[in-house]
Amino acid sequence: MTSIAIASGKGGAGKTSVSAALARYLGPSAVLADCDVDAANALIAMGATELSRSDYSSGDGYVIYSSRCTGCGECARACRFGAIVSDSGTFRIDEALCERCGLCQDVCPSAALVTEQKHGGYLALSSTACGSILSHAELVPGEDTSGKLVRKVRVQADEQAKQRGADFVLIDAPPGIGCPVIASLSGVGLAVVVMEAGRSGMSDAARLFTLLSDMKIPSVVVINKSGLDPEMDKEARQTAEDARAPIVAQLPFDARFRASTEAGEAWTDAADPWVREQAQSLCEAILQRTRSMS
Ligand code: SF4
Ligand code: SF4
Repeated sequence: MTSIAIASGKGGAGKTSVSAALARYLGPSAVLADCDVDAANALIAMGATELSRSDYSSGDGYVIYSSRCTGCGECARACRFGAIVSDSGTFRIDEALCERCGLCQDVCPSAALVTEQKHGGYLALSSTACGSILSHAELVPGEDTSGKLVRKVRVQADEQAKQRGADFVLIDAPPGIGCPVIASLSGVGLAVVVMEAGRSGMSDAARLFTLLSDMKIPSVVVINKSGLDPEMDKEARQTAEDARAPIVAQLPFDARFRASTEAGEAWTDAADPWVREQAQSLCEAILQRTRSMS
């Protein structure tokens, strides 16, 4: 089984479109893991139907039992994060500000602060229109345990791939280079970096290449939205060359790609034959590279 991560330092570079195209191209021989747990949208791109969903607990949090609280305010004075607020004398914890340090519990003279498992979102499994399986999740806003949930998405995808005898696990990584990205990339055999041919796209991709190099993960590059500025295209190719990442495809900036995406199509199944052809060549080039590495 081969794990391929599709990543980009920047959001909106075309990562999910490339992931969906590859997943549709491979059909049931791939399981797709949408690791962008803060803004999962592979479900839409893949036309998927949810099969199962389970609650995700993000760990212990703190709540104030109003029946025990005397309103002394010790906890609010102790909290360095301003997370304990009083609504007309009734104390409560603002989840968005709480860092779960536990100090309030230590100082409360009435044992009114108790620990509780916090609902952090959900983990789900869906079937897609092309017969493959999608592992995905959603974190509740303000939760900071995205790396842990990404790990669960990946474990579930690996289990599904084993059960179904799939050859590939495709990982749609979140944007950026933080903890959830590291959790998405760890242990993969190849990273496909989708890089926009523009200043911010190249700058963010360069940071991602540094991370990939530190993690010793080989990478290939898909340059997206090329052809707008020859100088930018040249710089994008140079960025890939500096990272020693072969360019497997260069997709032109073309309204037909956007029309296909807006129609809810995976590019490999686009009604427009030109989009279909571009996407199929892209998928074949990525798989060719994967085969040559094994
Ligand atoms: S320290 Fe305890 S009793 Fe005092 S306000 Fe806070 S929760 Fe209530
Ligand atoms: S756990 Fe820490 S951060 Fe959260 S409310 Fe209590 S003192 Fe403040």
